[in-house]
Amino acid sequence: MKTVLLTGGLGYIGSHIAVCLQQSWRVVIVDNLANSSLEQLDRLQQLCPIAKADVFVADCADLTAFEAVYASIRPDAVIHLAGHKAVGESVEKPLMYYHNNLNATMNVLTLCARYATRTLIFSSSATVYGPQVSPMREDMALLETLNPYAETKAMSERMIRDFVKTHPDFQSTVLRYFNPVGAHPSGLIGERPNGIPNNLLPYIQQVASGKRPHLNVFGNDYPTPDGTPIRDYIHVMDLAQAHVAALNGATLGHHVYNVGTGKGTSVLELVTAFETATKIRIPVVVTARRAGDLVESTADVSKIEKELGWKATRSLETICLDAWKFESSQR
Ligand code: NAD
Ligand code: UDP
Repeated sequence: MKTVLLTGGLGYIGSHIAVCLQQSWRVVIVDNLANSSLEQLDRLQQLCPIAKADVFVADCADLTAFEAVYASIRPDAVIHLAGHKAVGESVEKPLMYYHNNLNATMNVLTLCARYATRTLIFSSSATVYGPQVSPMREDMALLETLNPYAETKAMSERMIRDFVKTHPDFQSTVLRYFNPVGAHPSGLIGERPNGIPNNLLPYIQQVASGKRPHLNVFGNDYPTPDGTPIRDYIHVMDLAQAHVAALNGATLGHHVYNVGTGKGTSVLELVTAFETATKIRIPVVVTARRAGDLVESTADVSKIEKELGWKATRSLETICLDAWKFESSQR
């Protein structure tokens, strides 16, 4: 069985990928626990037989520490998820983001070259498109990004593209995630935000569980049918399966794909979908717009469907039910 290394594999998305890959790949994880804990490993082990010895606590932004474990793993492929991801924090602490996210990507490429790893899947984000008109297409130019987090993703993408130009035997796939939400249907793994959630569905989940009194809706005067912004919410299990498709369908060269559903959902539509699925009322208070928010961000998903044969299948109802199952298990 071939080995795939998941950097940041104890995090929200990486743990779901580990579950989806375990039948066809030996999964090894490197994570520095910056935004995860070994308790997540206990829960993950209830879903997939990953050995403790295959989980390394190390910092991918530190080449010496990372190489020490990489040399013992010598993976056939890497799925590079490790990175900081909070947009607001990246505005406050830009150097922390540039240091962590860029060095981690550079080190992954350095070690791929040094240890003959020929396949890389990179976690990018729809935020690299900036304020362009949806649906976003992979052939759109990457314009000025909106914050340092987005910039680290755009720069990492370029770093990988340029690396591939000089390594003709390499295959890289950049996956631009739209809005990953939901949880594994078991309720064992899901997203656990630190402190007050920045993202919409995690916030709704906490209102439902009584941790917060109401949802603040950041503006209802946008040019959309109900006045609230539109996003492309994708179930984290669908997203995880996109990685399986990308890994198994990898071909030489550099490839970029959107990973979304292609369908737009407004803030108020997501609230209604959650209420309908769970029968729990979510009180909302409309407040001012959040700085930097896009009116609409949805994916054109025709490329990944055509080239990798992957398509999201889970509904908004499933997203809400699975998210709620996970949230309920956290009490
Ligand atoms: P997460 O924070 O849950 O997981 C990231 C993991 O990486 C954490 O376990 C953290 O401890 C680890 N990590 C961070 N820096 C590290 C380092 N230097 N060395 C080793 N481990 C490190 O985040 P997630 O939601 O699972 O996101 C995974 C990836 O997908 C990130 O790169 C993120 O930017 C990207 N992404 C996420 C979203 C989203 O909405 N969740 C959207 C687009 C892209
Ligand atoms: N949003 C909101 N209240 C919240 C969190 C988010 O109204 O507490 C809105 C936000 O303004 C945006 C949408 O929900 O229009 C999705 O926000 P999220 O941060 O989840 O995703 P992103 O904007 O980064 O795509």
